[in-house]
Amino acid sequence: VAPAIASSVERLMRRVEDFPSAGVQFCDLTPVLADSEGFDAVVTGLCAGHEVGTVDYVAGLDARGFLLAGAVAMRLHTGVLAIRKAGKLPPPVHSRSYELEYGAATLELPADGLDLEGKRVLVVDDVLATGGTLGAAVGLLDDCGAIVAGLSVVLEVPGLGGRDRLSGTPLTCLTVA
Ligand code: AMP
Repeated sequence: VAPAIASSVERLMRRVEDFPSAGVQFCDLTPVLADSEGFDAVVTGLCAGHEVGTVDYVAGLDARGFLLAGAVAMRLHTGVLAIRKAGKLPPPVHSRSYELEYGAATLELPADGLDLEGKRVLVVDDVLATGGTLGAAVGLLDDCGAIVAGLSVVLEVPGLGGRDRLSGTPLTCLTVA
């Protein structure tokens, strides 16, 4: 990924200490996405390694991933999927639960009206931390019979094992927190 893309993310992003809990540095990409050149650069970076015709769908993770997935899908000439948090979609749904630091969370996709069997899906989100969220998305797409073509995130928080947890799937991170 071009260094210019990383530097525009680093220049514009806002780092907030001790949010949402003590010891966590929250990386707020709002100013990056609000800047037309920053947004354009991020969308270009997230497409890296994927050409038109090599991906069938782009999936965004609830909720900031939605902003990115639509734009990436337009670049790659694909449709877009929203991978939702539990309770947002009417039944029937495919669902995958995963552990959080405290408790658990669930991601869902519609089980009707969508045939993902053998389809190549690029998954995008804003931040990779422990990899629990993206790992659950990979599992969910696997349950649907889809092939995960790649994972693309704007920012990787190093030292939390996320990259190792997702090994086996091509991963693009535009910059490191
Ligand atoms: P994880 O499942 O631990 O990889 O966390 C990834 C999800 O949590 C992403 O959807 C992010 O939006 C959010 N997230 C985790 N850590 C941070 C952070 N330091 N700054 C901003 N968002 C984060």
